[in-house]
Amino acid sequence: MLKANRYDVLFERVSIGPVTARNRFYQVPHCCGMGHLRPQAHAAMRAIKAEGGWAVVSTEETEIHPSSDLSPSTEQRLWDEKDIPALRLMTDAVHDQGALAAIELVHCGHHAPNLLSRMPPLAPVNMAIDIPYPKQARAMSKSDIKDLRCWHRTAARRAKDAGFDIVYVYAGHKLTLPQHFLLPEFNTRTDEYGGSLENRTRLIRELLEETKEEIGDRCAVAFRFAVDELKGGDGMQAHEEGRGVVELLADIPDLWDVVVSDWANDSQTTRFQMDEGYQVPYIKFVKEVTQRPVVAVGRFTSPDLMVSLVNRKIVDFIGAARPSISDPFLPMKIRDNRIDEIRECIGCNICVSSDVLGVPIRCTQNPTMGEEWRRGWHPEKIEPNITDAATLVVGAGPAGLECAMQLARRGYHVTLAEATGELGGRVLQESGLKGLAAWLRVRDNRVYELQQSGNVDIFLNSPLSAEQIIEFGIENIFLATGSRWRRDGIGRSSRRAIPKLEATQVLTPNDIMDGTQLPEGPIVIYDDDQGYLAGVIADHLSTAGHEITFVTPASVVSPWTSYTLEQERVQRSLIMQGVKILANATIINAATSVIETCCVFSGERKETSCNAIVLVTEREPNLTLHSELNRISSSEEKWDSTLNVKVIGDAFMPGLIADAVFSGHLAARNFEADPTRSDLAFYRREIPWLPTG
Ligand code: ADP
Ligand code: SF4
Repeated sequence: MLKANRYDVLFERVSIGPVTARNRFYQVPHCCGMGHLRPQAHAAMRAIKAEGGWAVVSTEETEIHPSSDLSPSTEQRLWDEKDIPALRLMTDAVHDQGALAAIELVHCGHHAPNLLSRMPPLAPVNMAIDIPYPKQARAMSKSDIKDLRCWHRTAARRAKDAGFDIVYVYAGHKLTLPQHFLLPEFNTRTDEYGGSLENRTRLIRELLEETKEEIGDRCAVAFRFAVDELKGGDGMQAHEEGRGVVELLADIPDLWDVVVSDWANDSQTTRFQMDEGYQVPYIKFVKEVTQRPVVAVGRFTSPDLMVSLVNRKIVDFIGAARPSISDPFLPMKIRDNRIDEIRECIGCNICVSSDVLGVPIRCTQNPTMGEEWRRGWHPEKIEPNITDAATLVVGAGPAGLECAMQLARRGYHVTLAEATGELGGRVLQESGLKGLAAWLRVRDNRVYELQQSGNVDIFLNSPLSAEQIIEFGIENIFLATGSRWRRDGIGRSSRRAIPKLEATQVLTPNDIMDGTQLPEGPIVIYDDDQGYLAGVIADHLSTAGHEITFVTPASVVSPWTSYTLEQERVQRSLIMQGVKILANATIINAATSVIETCCVFSGERKETSCNAIVLVTEREPNLTLHSELNRISSSEEKWDSTLNVKVIGDAFMPGLIADAVFSGHLAARNFEADPTRSDLAFYRREIPWLPTG
């Protein structure tokens, strides 16, 4: 029997229509880049959440018909009964772990480009589709609306046949036809589906009632609804029509899953929204209006806040997408009072980026995410050690910390040496920049576990040389020595150094993060990396009062951040602060107090004054120690044993923090493992089935 704890309220059972959830932890629908193309990987990933204690585990959006074809994005698909077995994999796996399985049925209207199916997209009225592609959605006739209702009803039946317990009607994120009908921006119809709020809600009411009629005997019907678009009077607002919709439909669904719209507003990053529970002000009225249980999200990781939300009758369920990705075992850790072990989401949206790019989900904090089936990884379990071999990890950035932590979990003795006086490497550095403070959780979580571990020795202020490593006598060495930003301007747009850089003060992101003093007057930030960091530095330095010109060969600031749903916020923030943006330009020359740029299209040249230039172009792996070790270990007179040296993280391949963590994790898992087994795991793929005869 477990001892009662102050989080007990979170573990009460809650009824949702005809089904009962075992506790209040609800993994709301979230994309994962697996979908109908990778059903085994998908089922295994969802099953881990169920194992971790979530009471409800949902799919991502599930297309109900070829006229809602999101290809090349990989979502779920329930176009006909042939899709049922793939979804059955998930429901069986989730049920095996005692959780309920939910499915988010969707018709995406003009958001679905139908590139695979080649069907005309559908919308309340004629309009351009939602991606830049010269194609339009067709205004739906009454008979199209009838068809849509029929497709939804049929999909609900198939969902029930696939074993789902909860079936969604979805009007959120500006991505779905039911919401498009609701919003006057998209719905200017003059028939009974347009005009008044009641008319615009008609389709949703029909879908909810028909879904209940079709499957309500055994399955609950959930309604996912965006109460506010965060556009003020230009869009739906929670205190106006948002509330009106809840009043109109109050007790029709068995569960209200309420969010804000669009996706970028719902899944805000910590860079722009630090507060956990940031959606509460918008959704808190819902329980006053309906008798049905309510679930809401807001990057919840603090159990005290969760308890307070339930006790204050704001929600019945703690909804989570990202916190469940970062820590699939979050409910169990709370249940067992292991709060310090929660791997808190850092709100970086790397998970989102993988879905946007159409590859299986990954997570900065949880390197096992997306690898449950392919590599057989579990977030809480790892193979025990094979021998008593001692290990040395050099460098305590994200790669070194993760590697050391997993080696220690396996039972190996680990010596972790860090050159500086603090653990964290680039995470420590980057988290000192404006908006990135939450990223320090990547370090804190791992340092906490390392400190608890009895088999880890940590040495700070220990910049190891090859000679010292050899003197140590530990043969298994993981080099996580990181990388440094280049100082010569070589990068994506030019493989040649920028001429005459010596005429001006040149800084790199490392200098900025080290706190190097900048001169007075104009500063140029040159972003040829085109990731997130240059934009962060521009924001940081501009907030500190510097006059910034942001030069980039890209057409927009930090184009990569569109994958994390941040790009518009990044550019808006710089514009609002008065940062001058010079897009489509490379720097071709430097001189005293001036740089010369060249338009990437026309070749037109221009001079911009600057007293210092921050080059954010490319990184070079720190491999000096590795070369030195190679040199010494190959000279027999100095060394007569075999060193087993593995380079990991940014020293191996400069990339995202998520890549560094993954690399450290992989190296620890593979240490002393049978190489044929780890290779096999890597190549485990879902291959289209071909008829044999
Ligand atoms: P990664 O992202 O791969 O983890 P980081 O750049 O974040 O890389 O971290 C590398 C860490 O390695 C830094 O904290 C750095 O101080 C440390 N380091 C680099 N060279 C040595 C060395 N020779 N001995 C000990 N620590 C080192
Ligand atoms: Fe959170 Fe980042 Fe992991 Fe997504 S990738 S779950 S935002 S830590």
